[in-house]
Amino acid sequence: MIRATSFQGKSVAVFGLGASGLAAAEALRDGGAIVAAWDDGVAAREAAIARDIPLADLSIADWAGFVALVLAPGVPLTHPEPHWTVKKARENGVEIIGDIEIFTRERALHSPGAPFIAITGTNGKSTTTALVTHILRHAGLDVQMGGNIGRPILTLDPPEPGRFHVIEMSSFQIDLTPTLEPTVGVMLNVTADHIDRHGTIENYAAIKERIVQGADIAAVGIDDEYGLAMLRRRIVAGPAIAFSAEKSIAPGYSLLDDTVVCSNREGLAVKLGSLKGIPTLRGRHNGQNALAAVAAVRECLNALGRSTDLDWQGALSSFPGLPHRLEEIGRLGRTLFVNDSKATNADSTEKALSSFPRDIFWILGGKPKAGGIDSLTPYFGRISKAYLIGEAADEFAQTLEGKVPFVRSGTLDEAVLAASRDAQSSDSAEPVVLLSPACASYDQFRNFEVRGESFRGLVASLPGIAMRAVS
Ligand code: ADP
Repeated sequence: MIRATSFQGKSVAVFGLGASGLAAAEALRDGGAIVAAWDDGVAAREAAIARDIPLADLSIADWAGFVALVLAPGVPLTHPEPHWTVKKARENGVEIIGDIEIFTRERALHSPGAPFIAITGTNGKSTTTALVTHILRHAGLDVQMGGNIGRPILTLDPPEPGRFHVIEMSSFQIDLTPTLEPTVGVMLNVTADHIDRHGTIENYAAIKERIVQGADIAAVGIDDEYGLAMLRRRIVAGPAIAFSAEKSIAPGYSLLDDTVVCSNREGLAVKLGSLKGIPTLRGRHNGQNALAAVAAVRECLNALGRSTDLDWQGALSSFPGLPHRLEEIGRLGRTLFVNDSKATNADSTEKALSSFPRDIFWILGGKPKAGGIDSLTPYFGRISKAYLIGEAADEFAQTLEGKVPFVRSGTLDEAVLAASRDAQSSDSAEPVVLLSPACASYDQFRNFEVRGESFRGLVASLPGIAMRAVS
């Protein structure tokens, strides 16, 4: 737990009492601040009462007395419209921050050089954050991981020299962190997403760019135009290193066949580790995540004057991966079962389909998203058969008609049975039963995690299955 000493004796409003809001309120209280916490939801307020967090109805509070509003990242700051607490704070000249800003202030006050790796991007944040953490731990280092993944940042152990904080940040969190100055700031990629909350893609990219601008060293993915432009702007302003999963670059980190290499300006390359055959790092997208993670760790160690002579290969090969993202869950004879339940749209499913060259027995469907699966047509040749579940069945059947054999399974249990039977009776050397729904789960499941767990349970009950140990 980190105590927020930088607000000692001051009045702070906290709005949004989910896990990170509750932790922020506690950190402020324990650091000596006068907390006025609130949430529109009764259950959230009860959770606060149970934790001895002082509540105050912020709609009738005197805002002139507050020095800051600590806002949960899910509460709109600008789009589609500023939340009422944001309007009140602005009217009263109260600064608006998030829990990660409290962390950055504590670090600046008590341990300014403490290693801090902050990671953002439209896709791959969690995988990269988990991989950075894994590489550092594999090297025997003291690591705290959190932010947008796992634990709220203020529940972690405090920053100190030799302790690495590896923090995933959404653009909403960056927006609430005015003094974001990590040792290494990682920018993975930018594609249109969350535009509803940021207005335009330019605005969204500009918020993400702050992780690059404030960092001691910026590690920037240059496989999209926004990243490339960020790198160009950064190079003139401060230390930066690029990574690309698409082309060979010097200086920078890239893939030579499947090997992560770091090249210097003269093109001299150091080979750091191969991704070949690592099940948790399948696919080009994971190549980008691995490059980002290796670059972040290596540049951070360099900046701290520590050795970068790690067992990179051992670290990469032993990465346990994250659940529900191209997760290899078991084998039945020749058949491989893969849980990609996190793929709630066609873009994510494209990453899965492009990671297996052929013989895919594809389970898909759920609550469809705009655009459906039309964009996946180039991959249809890889699919042996499709198994449709949920509300999207009719729409997807139309797209697949005449191109891919399919069956309307309706439910996940029917789909698993049929796909596994068909895969086993196929003459493929390694058929893949892949759950990559390209849809939200809400029509049949509470969320994508529950959907993925349900898939795991169904696969586990197949006679003769060998399940992969859960890490
Ligand atoms: P995030 O935390 O940014 O949502 P995750 O690491 O949880 O990212 O991955 C979520 C999904 O995004 C994956 O299942 C995959 O489909 C896709 N993905 C992961 N990494 C990348 C990447 N580098 N580029 C594009 N898509 C990616």
